[in-house]
Amino acid sequence: MDFTLATLPQHKTIALVAHDNRKKALIEWVSKHKQLLSLHALCATGTTGQRIEQAINIPVRQFLSGPLGGDQQIGGQIAEGSIHCLIFFWDPFEPMPHDPDVKALLRLASVWNIPVACNSSTADLMISSPLFTLESVREIPDYTKYSAQRTSQEDS
Ligand code: PGA
Repeated sequence: MDFTLATLPQHKTIALVAHDNRKKALIEWVSKHKQLLSLHALCATGTTGQRIEQAINIPVRQFLSGPLGGDQQIGGQIAEGSIHCLIFFWDPFEPMPHDPDVKALLRLASVWNIPVACNSSTADLMISSPLFTLESVREIPDYTKYSAQRTSQEDS
């Protein structure tokens, strides 16, 4: 795989997701960091988004509920470059009906090299980084080269 450079913008779109047993922890975390989070655009899976909006009174774009496809919607937006950061408090103690979607979401976050926090201590480190409110550079797969290589393989 060839890589190229892309920016993580100063004004980021941040996706927030929490499994049911982790929602309380995520709500506490977003309440603690409301001010810094309000500098960015927030989006979330359905139930998580509603709970966050109620808790901190900041608009949160809501996708479908996770088990109904919300994780996949967020993964699609990461691949398209329109989500720049993922805070995903997943439950390490319970299997989920949509575990394949959870795995796919975490995989796409890794493919597109966006910052991901799966617990409050990592999320604390992330939000206290100067890069949280600055533009930065990241390596991403070079889709143009990837596509050209695959097309020429199909021709031969
Ligand atoms: P929810 O989905 O915010 O709709 O509960 C989260 C998830 O289970 O992925």
